[in-house]
Amino acid sequence: MSGIRERVHYYQERIARFRPDAPCRLMAVSKGQSREAIDAAIDAGVCLFGENRVQEAVSKWTKRCPNIELHMIGHLQSNKVKCAIQTFSAVDSIDSLALADALNRRLEVPLSVMLEVNVGAEETKSGLRPDLVRQYLTDVGRFPRLQFDGILAVLPQAKDSSHGERKRIRNLMQETAELWRICQSDRWPWAPLSELSMGMSGDYEWALEAGATVIRIGQGIFGPRD
Ligand SMILES: *Cc1c(COP(=O)(O)O)cnc(C)c1O
Repeated sequence: MSGIRERVHYYQERIARFRPDAPCRLMAVSKGQSREAIDAAIDAGVCLFGENRVQEAVSKWTKRCPNIELHMIGHLQSNKVKCAIQTFSAVDSIDSLALADALNRRLEVPLSVMLEVNVGAEETKSGLRPDLVRQYLTDVGRFPRLQFDGILAVLPQAKDSSHGERKRIRNLMQETAELWRICQSDRWPWAPLSELSMGMSGDYEWALEAGATVIRIGQGIFGPRD
């Protein structure tokens, strides 16, 4: 597990440097990583984790640790909803009204969730198209046990390292942050939207620049996945 502590500190330092006055949290994405690696990240001070598969999360997170948040960040099937509620402290990947409805029906106490937005409207990715987000946030008022605490943005990967590509991704991030602020100003009581989860190992600096409040780092902390 060597190096995990150093890499966690590296990202915490980068966050502090890019964002001296606005807070941003580091989410360690532990999908495909061992329990030992997770423990090393916890020892290094990480208290927010993301997993993208229910079964894998259940097998690795056998006990809920106090002070540690575990969020679901992958596509959630309706038949796994019950198990997900028992395992995760939040579901950041709400991508349909059907899923919101299924969660709301199963919940006994309110759950913190995020709306997943497919920023590039890519066919291969889940998440809501940006132009549908405001209407959707209006509609989810009918699910009283869901509190929409944020937007999780999924971005296209840069096709190459050219200036044009980098500019395209940065612009998409700025537009996403703008959409997030507009949705916040709609002031739906069920959607405070205090969080913008955006940026991964390859593009987190631009996300910090755009105003993300959570960056999601997997391989940058843990190294390659199995
Ligand atoms: C895997 C994953 C990440 C982390 O990706 P890395 O490239 O390993 O940093 C972030 N967000 C989501 C939704 C993921 O599935």
